[in-house]
Amino acid sequence: MKVMKFGGTSVGKPERMHQVKDLVTRGDEPTIVVLSALSGTTNALVGIGEALAEANRILAKERIDALHAHYLEFYPALLKTEKGRAKAEDIIKEHFEFLNIILKISFNEAINRDILAQGELLSTKLFYTLLEELNIPAVFLGALDFMSIDENSEPELSKISEKLKAILAQHPGEKLFVTQGYICKNHRNEVDNLKRGGSDYTASLIAAAINASVCEIWTDIDGMHNNDPRIVDKTRPIAELSFDEAAELAYFGAKILHPASIWPAQQYNVPVRLLNTMDPEAHGTLIKEDVETTGVKAIAAKDGITAIKIKSSRMLLAYGFLRRVFEIFEKYKTPIDMITTSEVAVSVTIDDLSHLAQIQKELEALGSVEVDQNQTIICIVGNMVSETRGAIKSVMDSINNIPIRMVSYGGSRHNVSILIDSKFKKDALQSLNEGVFNW
Ligand code: ADP
Ligand code: ASP
Ligand code: MG
Repeated sequence: MKVMKFGGTSVGKPERMHQVKDLVTRGDEPTIVVLSALSGTTNALVGIGEALAEANRILAKERIDALHAHYLEFYPALLKTEKGRAKAEDIIKEHFEFLNIILKISFNEAINRDILAQGELLSTKLFYTLLEELNIPAVFLGALDFMSIDENSEPELSKISEKLKAILAQHPGEKLFVTQGYICKNHRNEVDNLKRGGSDYTASLIAAAINASVCEIWTDIDGMHNNDPRIVDKTRPIAELSFDEAAELAYFGAKILHPASIWPAQQYNVPVRLLNTMDPEAHGTLIKEDVETTGVKAIAAKDGITAIKIKSSRMLLAYGFLRRVFEIFEKYKTPIDMITTSEVAVSVTIDDLSHLAQIQKELEALGSVEVDQNQTIICIVGNMVSETRGAIKSVMDSINNIPIRMVSYGGSRHNVSILIDSKFKKDALQSLNEGVFNW
């Protein structure tokens, strides 16, 4: 069995949804299709939630109506039969009635997550209606029946696997299953989600849960590029990446993949393919266990980083200092991305600022604390240690003119991370592209 995930732009127009239908029906292998919301929908739903959080019901209503109008325009171009269109009208009516009811009740975070779930529910139901209209046999799977996260918002892979396998066993002989990306249930049994871009994570979790032959991520570009194509001119797709390399790039900002989406597939050694819905024959990127890599392969950037420096003469020759520092971050469940140390100071970076004030206060008991916001981690991925002498030199030479706040090298053989002020990001990415890839 295989998994095919289609992102927002791949289902964002009626003709694209037709193309998705062609792609998912062309092979013989049983397939679980994971769909995102139509492009723009999740952003619109976030906007509705924000208006409600500010108690601005008029704005929320305007936003609901604008989104509703979009769906009313979408379905007649998707479906041709009276029966199909009537079904789509019912689906759209049901979900927009729900959004309109929310306008009348008191708003809270759990309701907000219910709002965010509407996009994937709508896209999968409309797609399923298209399959029905064309008499293509398929089974609709509700992700809320099997996809779950625990109290730390971590996916419960073994539970997911157990539940999904039991559901699939009820449909022997079926070859096509359609389900929602992104949405899940949390430990309170409320509707929740896997964070923005989470449909990739859903696909990888499903692939791991059923030990799929492949997890295909279909999007609007021909694979993982060697630099951010939104920022840098002249980037090119990478044919193969190892799981470690892909995980690093995803975590450090390559938007094509959700930051956590590699580990489930990696754990069960399910190859991941990044493919282009607009150009299905393009090779894309194959992500698998063993890949030969020489030199720098790709560069990604993660914004919204805060650097914290803790300086203390007590650190000199003392043991246990770092433990005390880390314990504070652990207490506030705040992950650290980068770390560098000297005899008297340690610098770390975080991207979750929800507990910054408390963390800072507790760190001050250990030494003087400096906080720098608006930083960017530039992550350079490849084989930097063995074979390729001088790879680091070309990295450093090409960003010679850019002030560097931190460097992390040697933590793993496939990554160098550099922290800079975000205002230098575009320059740094472009210069690295020219200096490292020689163009
Ligand atoms: P989807 O809606 O299919 O999930 P996304 O917008 O989440 O698509 O991801 C695809 C986009 O990621 C591309 O259109 C591209 O602009 C962006 N992107 C950022 N970095 C990279 C990269 N290194 N390689 C390819 N795409 C990238
Ligand atoms: N629709 C969700 C989002 O826009 C999930 C996804 O597209 O992967 O973030
Ligand atoms: Mg995405």
